[in-house]
Amino acid sequence: MQKTGKILKTLVWGNAVSLAVLNTTALVNEAIKRHSLTPVCAAALGRAMTACAYLCSWLKDGESSLSMTFDGGGAGGKVCVAGDGELNIRGFLENPNCVLPPRADGKLDVGGCVGKNGYLTVIRDDGSGLPFTGSCALLTGEIAEDLSAYFLTSEQRPTAVALGVRIGTDGTCIGAGGVFLQPLPGASEEILRRTEEEIAKYSSISALIAVKGAEEVLRSIENTHYEGREVRFRCRCSREKSEAAVLTLGREDALDLIARQGKISVHCHYCNTEYAFTEEETKKLFGEE
Ligand SMILES: [Zn+2]
Repeated sequence: MQKTGKILKTLVWGNAVSLAVLNTTALVNEAIKRHSLTPVCAAALGRAMTACAYLCSWLKDGESSLSMTFDGGGAGGKVCVAGDGELNIRGFLENPNCVLPPRADGKLDVGGCVGKNGYLTVIRDDGSGLPFTGSCALLTGEIAEDLSAYFLTSEQRPTAVALGVRIGTDGTCIGAGGVFLQPLPGASEEILRRTEEEIAKYSSISALIAVKGAEEVLRSIENTHYEGREVRFRCRCSREKSEAAVLTLGREDALDLIARQGKISVHCHYCNTEYAFTEEETKKLFGEE
């Protein structure tokens, strides 16, 4: 099984449109493994992580970071994804055990999992210390439409988006990815129309990624030179950062917690990792031998 995904980017149609094709199958499988996701949760989180990877591909460097929260009141709860300019992506949703009946067309009910009574919020930090926050009302909770609305209202950039995640009968991801077509500023009406027509062809993008691969999908839009980068599921948490969290408790409260619970555990929601500290380890942190 592949360990990393990829994003391919280029300019098409006389350099009028920025095109990106992503294969995020490996990221979705890593998320399924870490969070024990049900199929509908894997689809919701997978689409959100694919969207996040695309947004992160525009960040200027590894110090820049971005987070997205889909808070739509759906059965899966909030969906939170984050990443950086080196395309390390992580994410979770509040209720990873959520099960929903399939939609009438047989697809997983991502809209029901995410919900549409709320907002998509994007926080982008380019390292300057002044993060940009953008937000827009969710339209369907299906992620792709919501992202298009976000680009239009918050960034004034019409962007056609197709996202898909296919889960096999064994619960693993067979294919996941997306296509993004973003006309450059000043694009003609004809280009905007062509973008809409093109994106309509990718209602089953997960199957295309699984069968043809991202390269062939890109070449089918325009056979041109492209730039490829790796994308991976990787969290920023570490034992050292957890130690810092224990230290902020202060010695007295930390030891009080241990007296009541037997240990201190610091849990990272993004990758579902628990860092446990025994009494001995805690005392050592506070400088006692
Ligand atoms: Zn983590």
